Amino acid sequence: MALTYPDAPSARRPGRCWTIRVVGHRDRTASVTCSSTCAMPPRSRDLAALRRFAEAHVAAHARAAAVHHDAACWCRRQQCALHDGTRVNCAGGVVLVLRHDPAVGQVWTLTEVCSACAPLMPHARVMSRAVPPPAAPREPYEPLATASESGGPRRVPGGFSAPPGGMGQVPVPERRGGRRHGTARRRGGRTASGGAGG
Ligand SMILES: [Zn+2]
Ligand SMILES: [Zn+2]
Ligand SMILES: [Zn+2]
Repeated sequence: MALTYPDAPSARRPGRCWTIRVVGHRDRTASVTCSSTCAMPPRSRDLAALRRFAEAHVAAHARAAAVHHDAACWCRRQQCALHDGTRVNCAGGVVLVLRHDPAVGQVWTLTEVCSACAPLMPHARVMSRAVPPPAAPREPYEPLATASESGGPRRVPGGFSAPPGGMGQVPVPERRGGRRHGTARRRGGRTASGGAGG
């Protein structure tokens, strides 16, 4: 059973972000980088092939990433700089958005953001949404569980404590001094062979 996380922002884990870039080099080759530690193809002059790889790679990340339902909005963490003109309060479920500016054409970004920021981010489209937590939903109201028993407080007689044996039985004292076989009386006697010496 998974515990449900409280909805406080402090209890959320930070939203994740993956950035895939096609980076050109001076020798007219290019390479693909990923912010995660992924195996990348070697440098190549085939820029189109590298771009196809980057698109496939970001799509693979989007498929593999199970969106955290308790992820904090990544956009919020960047002070919502991507939609500076429109301020919103982060709200709603967590979605995974892919941003790709065709004018730049060489950067793909996957981020976990809230449902309020997602439509405001430029060049972004929602790839997947967070799966709701597996815990059972709460009941709208809880049944009354008060411990009041019917009939009011129980009356307990005070100041009376019956012995566990009952009143009728008087404990019989052991008879002392009736018969005594005297082997227990030797201690005080002096013997000559004692080592007391004193
Ligand atoms: Zn990667
Ligand atoms: Zn935002
Ligand atoms: Zn947000």
